Amino acid sequence: MDVLNRSELPFPESLPDFQRLFPDDAACAAYLEKARWGDGFSCPRCGIVGEPFRIATRPGVLTCRCCRRQTGLTVGTVMERSHTPLSTWFWAAYLVASQTQGMSAVQFQRQLGLTRYETAFGILHKLRAGMVRPDRDRIGGRAGEHVELDETWVGGRTRGEGRGIHHKTLVTAAVEVRRREPGTAQDKRKDGRYAGRVRLSVADDRSAATLAGFVESAVMPGTLVITDDWSGYACLRKRGYDHHAIAECGDPEVAEEFLPIIHLVFSNLKTWLNGIHHGVSAKHLQAYLNEFTFRFNRRFYPFNAFRSLLGIAGGVVAPTYAELYSGDWMHPTCSGCLR
Ligand SMILES: [Zn+2]
Repeated sequence: MDVLNRSELPFPESLPDFQRLFPDDAACAAYLEKARWGDGFSCPRCGIVGEPFRIATRPGVLTCRCCRRQTGLTVGTVMERSHTPLSTWFWAAYLVASQTQGMSAVQFQRQLGLTRYETAFGILHKLRAGMVRPDRDRIGGRAGEHVELDETWVGGRTRGEGRGIHHKTLVTAAVEVRRREPGTAQDKRKDGRYAGRVRLSVADDRSAATLAGFVESAVMPGTLVITDDWSGYACLRKRGYDHHAIAECGDPEVAEEFLPIIHLVFSNLKTWLNGIHHGVSAKHLQAYLNEFTFRFNRRFYPFNAFRSLLGIAGGVVAPTYAELYSGDWMHPTCSGCLR
């Protein structure tokens, strides 16, 4: 079976579905082989292109017919040098990419049917490492789309230490605002606006230097950016952005009209942080922001998330998933989705 043929491989909707597509290590190995050598195996040592020898008991290894060099399929992926079967890795990545909003290692161990807790913990840890650095390219920069910017306070509980003392952390955010055709079945919001990619960062303060620094690292110059009228954003026009500041943003109706998407992002972020992780300390907040960003930016593309987590770098594009998932605002298996 050609597991890369996307017309035959919709992203599995369920675990039984997944098990049908990746029933054993051989199917996973075939997938890895195709991801790396779409046009057929080519030996990294002698360069010969041709069918390699396969060893039934070692599905992760291909042997060159010419020079007999053995090539590991997991080299360069998160699975490299692991003794865990490929099918376990695939299942784990599937769970993390599509099923969970954050699972404890114990739950994970049970789901994967692993005897050792340490194995589950190690797999989870490695997969999550793939989320630590979200994409570093800047968002925005598309004609007809704008970016909403705002800050919010996250986490922390005041514990009676007196007025003005709290343990909240400032988070800055930028989100692309996209539009679907109004009136279509996919148009869940009245005006067709929905979130594109997001960037989130822990910030020291609300000063112009901090905010402008965040915007410059997160948003393409020239983009139309919308903010409230906080003075910290006043310099954005000078820095090359098409900046529109909205007055009266304290008024919920004004905010809903001009900055609706970023407030949805904040609300989802807080629900996710509180509900799943029961609050997060300031020290670890950026890692969670990165995970949220990873899930959020791939919420329409769970298969890309799956591949990113495993570290499979194959250049296979996913042309149909935008259509499949773009209307699925409430994708039930993906955390970070807007509700
Ligand atoms: Zn060779």
